[in-house]
Amino acid sequence: MPKIKIDKVRCKGCYLCIVNCPNGLIKIANGLNIKGVKPAVFSGGKCTGCTMCAVICPECIIEVYR
Ligand code: SF4
Ligand code: SF4
Repeated sequence: MPKIKIDKVRCKGCYLCIVNCPNGLIKIANGLNIKGVKPAVFSGGKCTGCTMCAVICPECIIEVYR
């Protein structure tokens, strides 16, 4: 099954990936990263590998595995 990996340290917390995942598979983490923001995290589930999250991320820190 496809999955994604988000670089939590480099995430700036814009949450564009969250609003653009058609399946709602990305959420906001509880803890803060080194930038002082709550990073986006993959919640698991039925990722289709559509790459929408990776394409929209302005930091280019989401990798999609298919
Ligand atoms: S789009 Fe990129 S920088 Fe923005 S919250 Fe998602 S992973 Fe973080
Ligand atoms: S690849 Fe597509 S389905 Fe999977 S987490 Fe990213 S936006 Fe969601």
